[in-house]
Amino acid sequence: MNEELMQIINGTLCPYCQCATKLVNGEVIYPHKVQDIPRPKYLDKMYYVCILNKDHYVGTYHDNKTSLGRLADTELRRWKNLGHRTFDVLWKEKKVFHSSENAYKWLSDKMGLPGELTHFGMFTVEQCKQAIEFCNELSS
Ligand SMILES: [Zn+2]
Repeated sequence: MNEELMQIINGTLCPYCQCATKLVNGEVIYPHKVQDIPRPKYLDKMYYVCILNKDHYVGTYHDNKTSLGRLADTELRRWKNLGHRTFDVLWKEKKVFHSSENAYKWLSDKMGLPGELTHFGMFTVEQCKQAIEFCNELSS
């Protein structure tokens, strides 16, 4: 994997602006939620956000440091969510797969991607659409 792609996947390079990112808490991402009671938990999570455009961001894992994938804009967030919903039911509800591991193995074969790159958080809009199509073929 080349250096640039690695930085994009790690959330340290904005794939839209080709600029740096910074690690911020959820209050920066969701300022309109700061006054909410009860306080939403995601406000205390950390996010990588583009230094030029606040609409470009991605969440982190439990360590509040490892990014969930590439920075996303509003459109990509929509596709990631739809992709996850379409994919997750295959193993959670429809039992097409016995485990998430099996399901991801299938998806990585279909997509022709190594396992470590087969995560919706790392997909582009095109890859999300492709994954959704494979999932729909399987469950139709
Ligand atoms: Zn950006």
